[in-house]
Amino acid sequence: ILDFKHLCDHVEVYRENIRNRGLQVDVDSIVSLYQQKCQLISRIQQLRKERNQVAERLKKNNNNEKATTNHRESDKERGKQLKTEIAQLEKQLEVIEENLFTQASSVPNLTHPNVPIGSEENARILHQVFSNDVDTKSLPRNNHLQIGKEWDLIDLESAAKVSGQKFYYLKNAAALLEVALINWSLNHVVSKGFIPLSTPDLARTEVVQACGFQPRGEASQIYTVAESDLCLVGTAEIPLAGYYMNQILDEQSLPIRMVAFGHCFRREVGSAGQASKGLYRVHQFSKVEMFVLCRPDESDSIHEELLNIQMELFSSLGFSYRVLDMPSEDLGNPAYRKFDIEAWMPGRNSFGEISSASNCTDYQSRRLNIRYRDRHGEIHHVHTLNATACAVPRMIITILENFQLENGEIQIPEPLVKYMGNTTRIRQ
Ligand code: AMP
Repeated sequence: ILDFKHLCDHVEVYRENIRNRGLQVDVDSIVSLYQQKCQLISRIQQLRKERNQVAERLKKNNNNEKATTNHRESDKERGKQLKTEIAQLEKQLEVIEENLFTQASSVPNLTHPNVPIGSEENARILHQVFSNDVDTKSLPRNNHLQIGKEWDLIDLESAAKVSGQKFYYLKNAAALLEVALINWSLNHVVSKGFIPLSTPDLARTEVVQACGFQPRGEASQIYTVAESDLCLVGTAEIPLAGYYMNQILDEQSLPIRMVAFGHCFRREVGSAGQASKGLYRVHQFSKVEMFVLCRPDESDSIHEELLNIQMELFSSLGFSYRVLDMPSEDLGNPAYRKFDIEAWMPGRNSFGEISSASNCTDYQSRRLNIRYRDRHGEIHHVHTLNATACAVPRMIITILENFQLENGEIQIPEPLVKYMGNTTRIRQ
């Protein structure tokens, strides 16, 4: 789950990292538990060795008439003592290991040295791309819900009846736009050599947890399925990360680049308010997700590669957006570094996050036990990265709010036209 030796040798690095992320984890307690674990293991090994020696001697003496009864009896007694002592220590070890696992689970990944320290407002802008495709200034400033109503594209009322708040129906051209966005983004990423997958929407609690999500507790963002050990996945990252769990890969097979279409289910606890209205923050949405497993020395450059693919996608649609290097308090436990992209959404009169790309280094691979064998036969953990190619609802928001023309019709971005049966505009 963690490189405990590294942690014990660099306690202050871990302490500072936890502080920078605004978390509270007792590193000293983890170090102490780990030391107790090591001592117990070595004591148990010693006692097992002695038990084997005693058993060996007893076996010999049983066949040896010269051996005294006294010797035999004392060996038998020692054998019994050892058995009891070993059993007691093994129980102690089990408790310590459980406690260590629980505490170690809350230790976040280390942080890339370039990551800004602090909270969201400290995000560093890496790139800004302003599109000239559409003369945004002359547009009516309708938000996606007004536009959706005008053209019968989004129905929240019916969804509220059927499923509750924060669900939606997409209708007419918007329903087609969803499928077009999925096809277009999937095809684009596959053309870069990614393996396409369609993934399960439910995953075992253990896998969800190993990916760094908290499936239990009131504040959990994960839906669990009653009378089973399954959760509804919050992102295809979970089934993609779990795909190679408990496997040792060949170095030559790396990097493995995958892309999946999947549904995301999120409880979105504590996210009421105007800013979450409409399609912006919903309980279920479709997403195309990229996922890569690679050698440790290449994860930084693959992180950039994923960001470039995202920028290509959003630029080709004519979005205006900015790329942020997210600060330490906003990384979440698994990410070592995270780039978010925010697109301009006129209806909000602000930028809104449309994608995110994270390098999780060995955080997930340690928990999922995914390793590779290098050319010298040595075994190491892989690094994992995940990145959004297309999270449908916010793409639809961005398209509706940016590409509405003077006459109210909505221009379909050119790359999507062929996926929309050659429709170029949403019109009556
Ligand atoms: P994440 O997997 O949390 O990094 O989210 C990836 C992308 O999914 C975000 O950048 C958003 O575009 C989108 N997203 C996240 N949560 C929601 C939600 N509750 N409703 C709609 N879109 C979302």
